[in-house]
Amino acid sequence: MAPPRRTTRQIHVGSVPIGGGAPITVQSMTITKTADVEGTLQQIYALAAAGCDIVRCTCNETEAAEGLAEIVPRSPVPIIADIHHQYRMALAAMEAGVQGLRLNPGNIRKPEHIKAVASEARDRRVPIRIGVNGGSLDPKLYEKYGGIAPEAMVESAQQELAYFDEVGFDLVKISVKASSVPLMVEAYRQLSEVTDHPLHLGVTEAGPPPPGLIKATAGISTLLLEGIGDTIRYSLTADPVEEAKAGRQLLEALGLRERKNVDLIACPSCGRAEIDVIDVAERAMAAFGERELPLQVAVMGCVVNGPGEAREADLGIAAGNKRGHLFVKGRNIAVVPEDEMVDALVEWAEFIDEHGIDAAIAKADTAKAEREAAKDRSALLASQGADVNHADEKIVHIRQATAT
Ligand code: SF4
Repeated sequence: MAPPRRTTRQIHVGSVPIGGGAPITVQSMTITKTADVEGTLQQIYALAAAGCDIVRCTCNETEAAEGLAEIVPRSPVPIIADIHHQYRMALAAMEAGVQGLRLNPGNIRKPEHIKAVASEARDRRVPIRIGVNGGSLDPKLYEKYGGIAPEAMVESAQQELAYFDEVGFDLVKISVKASSVPLMVEAYRQLSEVTDHPLHLGVTEAGPPPPGLIKATAGISTLLLEGIGDTIRYSLTADPVEEAKAGRQLLEALGLRERKNVDLIACPSCGRAEIDVIDVAERAMAAFGERELPLQVAVMGCVVNGPGEAREADLGIAAGNKRGHLFVKGRNIAVVPEDEMVDALVEWAEFIDEHGIDAAIAKADTAKAEREAAKDRSALLASQGADVNHADEKIVHIRQATAT
């Protein structure tokens, strides 16, 4: 039986609801340089495959914001930009199209900067997480409370909320993380008494597993069992895929999330898409229905990037030149006419469920499938060019906005 939940307001990060009774979501953060677009996207897809609902990427410099302009339209999940000390990076990240921001009140302290970001976020309807961190608490609060106290962390969040209020911005979620489990638990308890904004839970700098896993689980699950928390992140010194898996498994263990059927992921589609991704994904969802096939299946709009972006999926299909390219764990296995894409997905999913991934790859003529995919990929690149998402235009705006 799932524990009763505290009532919070609901916000949306992209299409993902947070708070207000929505399923508790799992977040993680990429550890690539955000300017490395392909490397970051591969990690985002791996995180989505591991059950991550929302991914955060660092936005610490202009090149990172420029990378976000290319990443956001190709990401399967909403992207939050993590802002460090420069408020201009928050403005640049919004220009790049991110679905959320994280601001640390201990790092950006000038009221005019905070209000400039909140005003822009209000106009663009981009939610912000007020991410208080015990280790980077505003020195004035540190002095007032004689150290990192739960009260100091809550007051820091409230100060930031007051600045947001001044400009009429309330699309907010809040975290009060610390590396000490008792401290963060107490800070969240106090915070939940004074606000109904959704809360993002985490034990910061929990360290490598297994101790890091234990600390994060202790803090997050204590609060979840008290009904506190709307979205969670494990902060581990490890491959972020481990964070996503841990988050997912914790929610399943607490009866807060369930997965039994096909987990269908689909790219959001972008200027490169060769098919109506929404239509194919909906038809695939309908074809799989409630069948007990515990596989992850990807529907990708193009063969240029699809198989690589979704290489962690058990099975996927990517469109190219009126054909569907099937792939298993990122390896091309077959080509089918476009109107047979969904049927082919179902057939291969049944085969994999019965015989396994290795048998599917062994049965396929992977060399031929890869040759055909390469042919369609080259044809698409030749006809569409490299910048179908007009990222270059956004990058020009970001450079203008962040030029000092
Ligand atoms: S159409 Fe291709 S590049 Fe665009 S999001 Fe889908 S898979 Fe990625």
